[in-house]
Amino acid sequence: MSDPVRRFYDHAHQIFDLSQAQQALEWDQQVLMPSGGVEQRAHQLSALAAAVHDRVADPAYGDLIAELEASADPAGPLRDDLREARRAHDRAVKIPRRLVEARAEACSLAQAAWEEARPASDFAAFRPHLERVLELTGELADAAGGAHRYDALLDDFEPGMTEAQLRLVFDDLKGRLVPLLEALRGAPRRPDETLLARRFPVAGQQQFCRQVIGDMGFDWNRGRLDVSAHPFTSGTMHDVRLTTRYLEDCLPSAVFGAIHEGGHGLYEQGLDPARYRDPAGQPGSMGLHESQSRLWENLIGRSRAFWAHYYGPLQAACPGVLDGVAPDAFYRAVNAVTPSLVRVEADEVTYNLHIILRFDLESDLLAGRIAARDLPGRWRAGMKQYLGLEPADDRLGVLQDIHWAAGLIGYFPTYALGNLYAAQFMEQMRRDLPDLDPRLARGELGVVKAWLNRNIHRHGRSWPAQELCRRVTGAALSAEPLMRHLRAKCAEVYGL
Ligand code: ZN
Repeated sequence: MSDPVRRFYDHAHQIFDLSQAQQALEWDQQVLMPSGGVEQRAHQLSALAAAVHDRVADPAYGDLIAELEASADPAGPLRDDLREARRAHDRAVKIPRRLVEARAEACSLAQAAWEEARPASDFAAFRPHLERVLELTGELADAAGGAHRYDALLDDFEPGMTEAQLRLVFDDLKGRLVPLLEALRGAPRRPDETLLARRFPVAGQQQFCRQVIGDMGFDWNRGRLDVSAHPFTSGTMHDVRLTTRYLEDCLPSAVFGAIHEGGHGLYEQGLDPARYRDPAGQPGSMGLHESQSRLWENLIGRSRAFWAHYYGPLQAACPGVLDGVAPDAFYRAVNAVTPSLVRVEADEVTYNLHIILRFDLESDLLAGRIAARDLPGRWRAGMKQYLGLEPADDRLGVLQDIHWAAGLIGYFPTYALGNLYAAQFMEQMRRDLPDLDPRLARGELGVVKAWLNRNIHRHGRSWPAQELCRRVTGAALSAEPLMRHLRAKCAEVYGL
């Protein structure tokens, strides 16, 4: 390795390692840290954010990238790493360090405030923190440039995607989902969802979640599963942290939450071990990341073949709770489509409408069409319009997600994109593995992991997300596979 190449990778790896240290502290804040540690942690995260920013924006790093760009083999991995490093560097030099520090501190404090405000349904207590995060995020978007503020934020999560493109995709999706939802209202038979609200002992749920995640192929020597207010995944490769939350009277929350995070975890553990610290060796877009979690959660975890195997182990983990419930009734219950207030517990059809509501609000906030104080009212109006429901309080409304407190504005759309990617990947997986269902019914989840490792995980960021989609499935990203899946599932479950 020539000297400039070695210096480039040393620098890039240092950026990566500091970012991972940030994630470890964020995990700790949400899982273990005593509440008194809030301000101290905010200082630490702010210092680390500044340290990362300094290294990404370092002019010497920019010179090194430019020097190597002139000579790198266009087909080699170095070229991919330089492209990713260039993108991050060009963005970082436009953003002042003090803004990065201020935003990291504000987000850390806002998350702590959200954790207190949510159970108390106290939007007024959270509002000043949210206003601060929104103000700094708007400044960040302006500094990063681009025609629209929202595009500048999207670039962090789904490079190349724009607000205008998303608007088209979401309008199309809305136009298909709303009629499907209406058709279900008049369906001849409805699943009985109340059986999922029986009392499932938390210890049994924990045992079952660990069994499924282990069977998916999650390596427990390189990862953990813990509890947090909002399920998430952090870390990568040799140390991946998953969280979920257990509610005694809501089985899907923990089970599908854990499978979802397990899907994220497998992506991180499945990257190329020789390249995971390199700029292009890391996971692709967040839409791709969400495709991995949503594929496991919905396309595998809610499938008939999956429950043909796992219904028995669930009954064994929670003895007596499901006595007298036929496997078919259970399968139909976990696939019920019912407009509900909470996104993370939403079914596959209404989930995307929850995302579209958040996208509308974020877009209006950043364009200055509404302010933070308008959010609770706008939330209720949007829920009524899309799902015919209004939350009784803000805990089940505008305060339900951590994302805005964490500064993740522009992130929500990646969940819906993830659903689209996931359905398209799944169709390809079924073409490649014609015996998939019998194998799932035998509990052979490893076959799914192997396919994803080979087709998605190992490639890191070698190509932009939409290009990877074309290479894997032979077609551009489309809403068709998701709609085919949803129509078939609803026809089966509702007898339409
Ligand atoms: Zn996720």
